[in-house]
Amino acid sequence: MKRYKFKNLNIVYTEKEDGNMKDKKIRENFLKKIGLKYIYIPKQEHTNIVAPFVNMSAPADGLYTDLKKVPIGVLTADCMAIVITDFKSLVVLHAGWRGLFSGIIENGLKYFKEKSSLFAYISPSIRDCCFEVDQNFIERLEEYSIDKKFLIEKNGKYYFSLQDLALEKLKRNGVSEVVDENICSKCGNNGNIFSYRNGDIDERILTLAYLE
Ligand SMILES: [Zn+2]
Repeated sequence: MKRYKFKNLNIVYTEKEDGNMKDKKIRENFLKKIGLKYIYIPKQEHTNIVAPFVNMSAPADGLYTDLKKVPIGVLTADCMAIVITDFKSLVVLHAGWRGLFSGIIENGLKYFKEKSSLFAYISPSIRDCCFEVDQNFIERLEEYSIDKKFLIEKNGKYYFSLQDLALEKLKRNGVSEVVDENICSKCGNNGNIFSYRNGDIDERILTLAYLE
């Protein structure tokens, strides 16, 4: 588990050794350990929907709150968790390539009027060292008008940088400060992060955030 504080923003992400956060019991025990009573996690389905945390019945891949001390989070194994805040309200996004391409960052940013004072954080996630993509994926880039500069060729194979695309989207929309954890879920952190591409099909880490 790693814990950060940026002003009044708290961010926690779990590691493999904390257990599978998809498991409700394990998750509840973990929350208790770090002094939290509950957490709101959306019904994640790789959508581009960002909903207020009070509306939890429909699928969404991002949550918004303007309440203090209300932890919101997402479960990931290779996808990015992205936290965006103006330190008065807060958005947490689950962003794999589908969400990223279809505008989940832009939808998250709609909750903030003044974008120049925003701070964003990108969790451990699969990076261009390991995120190999196929021809099918490359065709999607055109479909969604995604710049091919995020595609890297190594030894006849293609890799894609989700984080660089996320960074560009955040900066283009005026976010002034982005902290990228810079840990690859597949090959980094001594293997202590769940990775779908490493065979962790049902296991997930949890990235959560709350304001004080
Ligand atoms: Zn890697």
